[in-house]
Amino acid sequence: MPELPEVETYARYFTRHALHQRIARVRVLDERILGTIRAATFSQRLKGREFTSVRRHGKNLFACAGETWLHLHFGMTGDLAYYRETVKQPRFARVIFDFDGGAHLAYEDMRLFGGVDLTPLPDDYIREHALGPDPLDASFTLRTFRGIANARRGAVKSVLMSQEIIAGVGNLYADEMLFQASIHPRRAINELSDSEVRTVFTALRRVLREAIARRDRDAELPPRYLFNHREEGARCPRCGGTIARSVVFGRTTYFCATHQK
Ligand SMILES: [Zn+2]
Repeated sequence: MPELPEVETYARYFTRHALHQRIARVRVLDERILGTIRAATFSQRLKGREFTSVRRHGKNLFACAGETWLHLHFGMTGDLAYYRETVKQPRFARVIFDFDGGAHLAYEDMRLFGGVDLTPLPDDYIREHALGPDPLDASFTLRTFRGIANARRGAVKSVLMSQEIIAGVGNLYADEMLFQASIHPRRAINELSDSEVRTVFTALRRVLREAIARRDRDAELPPRYLFNHREEGARCPRCGGTIARSVVFGRTTYFCATHQK
């Protein structure tokens, strides 16, 4: 499921390929992917324009097209494909932008849990959906995170995954951050010490940055990451302990029963 690092990769892909080309035609192949907007309105508002910049917030991607912004959410199976030859059109393409010059950008989504829509401004969307700050934004500092840790109750993993508190962290990366920070996923966030809060903050940023950097060069996450050992009874790559499985915040959670306190 695309989390922040995956969506950052899509944002970079969009920027690299699909900016500054006139949109000759918009094809909506499956209207179910659109939010409330009708296919005809959606197409008409983008036709003749060009995408000029891209912004990511959490798991959301926005592309500026003059007076309106395209909003993409990738759900579970969303992806982008930029191509020239029609044979490369993805099987589950739901919306296709045809550019002058013959290239195409397809939003594909096999399971249709994602979404494609228009919004006047990204900040409007962020406000309307009550999204928290993006953890890689320059304004997201240790101080921001301390404020969150002091004000919130509940398991640290639930807080990391709540999109209205921090936008972009999902199940896999929340587990990874806590594994690296040696913190048990069920610990109450407001009971973490100052130094533990700092450790979680550092792990949060480091894991996201590492994941983005690795994705950029098509590399796997390091072998010492929990990511490669998500199996009950597996050996912990850090301390040799045993990986345990549990359910936190309604999601399957893996952690090391030995070194995560
Ligand atoms: Zn361990």
